[in-house]
Amino acid sequence: MSTKENSVLTRLPTELHYLIEPVLRCGFFTERDAFDYLDRATPQQMEELAGIAARVLANDDYPVVMAFVDEYPLTENQESAKLYFFFGALDHAGLQFDRGPELTHHETDGGPVPSTGNAAAGAARWRNIHVAEYNEDELLQYYVNQYWSSHMTDFEKRCHHLGAGYEKAKAERFSTPWGQRVLAEWRAADNQMHAALADGLSTFLLRVEPRIRDALSSGSLKVNRCPRCAKISRTPMARQCFWCGHDWHAPSDNRSDN
Ligand SMILES: [Zn+2]
Repeated sequence: MSTKENSVLTRLPTELHYLIEPVLRCGFFTERDAFDYLDRATPQQMEELAGIAARVLANDDYPVVMAFVDEYPLTENQESAKLYFFFGALDHAGLQFDRGPELTHHETDGGPVPSTGNAAAGAARWRNIHVAEYNEDELLQYYVNQYWSSHMTDFEKRCHHLGAGYEKAKAERFSTPWGQRVLAEWRAADNQMHAALADGLSTFLLRVEPRIRDALSSGSLKVNRCPRCAKISRTPMARQCFWCGHDWHAPSDNRSDN
């Protein structure tokens, strides 16, 4: 672990530390890096990615990865970006690592579907799902639940990052070099950020979350959709359509930027 002790990725839960070495070794800073790697990957390298994806899927680790990337935004953490684009590579390679939406088919009436207890069934559903089963409302809801925080503004992402860091560092009484850095960052932040975080991080997020959810649901913020069939993509970063197979990785193609 000595070579990676400065990595923010060591703040991942211990059971996810198997990701650190391959993520840092691959070192994708951009989506382009991830795609270039796949273009040149040897069968052994593809096998390694497949093994990692299988482990993420088996442990249901992807939601934890997403939460981590939310907490340590890739705009401010190179290692976080490497983690994010590593999963972009897995996604692009067509490897399944995410259990995906719980498509309920309304078999039960009422009652929220537990997101973990029913996960195996969810995974099987996702693998076997047919385009005829595409349900815009269910998938939009899944996308919004899973990815709303990816659609924060840059200011909100900065506030989220600072607020999360500050609360964690404060809980450790600013006793580490990292905590001291966060405290300095906090003191140097502008009035606008202090105002946004005046009532704490959770209050800040309670204000931000409904607005983004509403905007995504109403279409005023764009979810990632296939430029050909307009169906919702599996992730905000996906560049290949799960439904019609269309691939829009080429830079000249349409991007659903927001
Ligand atoms: Zn499509």
